[in-house]
Amino acid sequence: MTRPLARFIKCMNTVEVESLLAREAPLFLPVGTLEAHGRHLPVGTDTICAEKIAEELSIDLQGAVAPSFEYGLTNMLAQTSPASFFPEEMFEKFFEQIVENFYIQGFKTIIIINGHGGNKDALKRLVRRVSRRQPIAISVINWWMISEKFVKPVFNTSPGGHAAIEETSLMLHFCPTLVDPDNYNPSVDDQIPDEGLLLFPPPGEVLLHQPGQGQPMFDCGKASDFVRLLMEDLISRLQHWLNAINRLQGGLRP
Ligand SMILES: [Zn+2]
Repeated sequence: MTRPLARFIKCMNTVEVESLLAREAPLFLPVGTLEAHGRHLPVGTDTICAEKIAEELSIDLQGAVAPSFEYGLTNMLAQTSPASFFPEEMFEKFFEQIVENFYIQGFKTIIIINGHGGNKDALKRLVRRVSRRQPIAISVINWWMISEKFVKPVFNTSPGGHAAIEETSLMLHFCPTLVDPDNYNPSVDDQIPDEGLLLFPPPGEVLLHQPGQGQPMFDCGKASDFVRLLMEDLISRLQHWLNAINRLQGGLRP
């Protein structure tokens, strides 16, 4: 049987949107940034990964996908074009309003799929604020953090970091034509951030936790295994959460 297609709200008419609201469908909201991702991955990698995960989850959990927010908080690589950078409060306020608008318009369960580490703190703060004002079920998924436990079993190396094994594998699985393995050269691209020697911009964009660990690999079969483990884990944990919300007596409170 062929897998159903994801449902994007930007492609729906109001009749279709009303039917989503009537059945209280979860809304998946991808957020990324524009940021250099080594010479082997596109600068939109964070948004693309978040979108693809949102699409997959929306199929399995009978939800819909909101338009992505592609402009996040690029920090360490802000000087490497094209980077998205502006005051943190501006991002936080604007994104908070996007979330709250969807809630006010009738989406009671919102699952933010974040693809960028620089957005993490702002998302945590704004989600707390929204959940205190509104009876909303809300989640933030920092997908690469969840994926790290699958790096060792699948690739026999330690988790990498930025533009490393995790993101490269997701891109290889979902968008193989956007990955350019020939451009990756560890001696040029790898960089280990060091608090003792801050470098702006860093000399390489593949930012690793440890030398020689978690570097990009270009094995499509292993990349698919990695993505499958990640998606199974996310689906079962989100399903468990959604079931728990349905059991709440008297519904959600702010
Ligand atoms: Zn990234």
